[in-house]
Amino acid sequence: MASYFDELHVEEDEMPTVRLERLTRETFRMLFDHDPARYGDIINFQNTPPASKSEIEKLKTPSFEELIDEQCRICLSQYQVNDKALNMPCKHIFHENCLKTWLEKSNFCPLCKFELKTDNEMYELYKQELKNRQSREDNIAQLHDSMFS
Ligand SMILES: [Zn+2]
Ligand SMILES: [Zn+2]
Repeated sequence: MASYFDELHVEEDEMPTVRLERLTRETFRMLFDHDPARYGDIINFQNTPPASKSEIEKLKTPSFEELIDEQCRICLSQYQVNDKALNMPCKHIFHENCLKTWLEKSNFCPLCKFELKTDNEMYELYKQELKNRQSREDNIAQLHDSMFS
């Protein structure tokens, strides 16, 4: 018996955000097809680029009170008295070393996916394009609502 999903185009099943990401990646794939080294990781989402060093330097040190009875969610150990920690802009706190190691490989918060800026132009372009498409989509949805409600 054909399943419910077989009878639908997979695309129609996609979450709007997933569809937007896919379409944006496809655009980038076409635009930069001649230069795989530059965009490959981004298009394939194997990796996100590391966070920009200047962004990491801007991260604030939390107060000691914020660390009491809390644990670093990267290494899962409780904060000890002289531990160094950093506060992400999303307010999630991690050990300085744990977070820096993490941010050398990716640009988002391990807990909530809040993204720090990167030094990767292509990735920033991709994010910008994704945002533009998102707001276009929102505008169309609003227009639709105002016409049909
Ligand atoms: Zn840690
Ligand atoms: Zn976070």
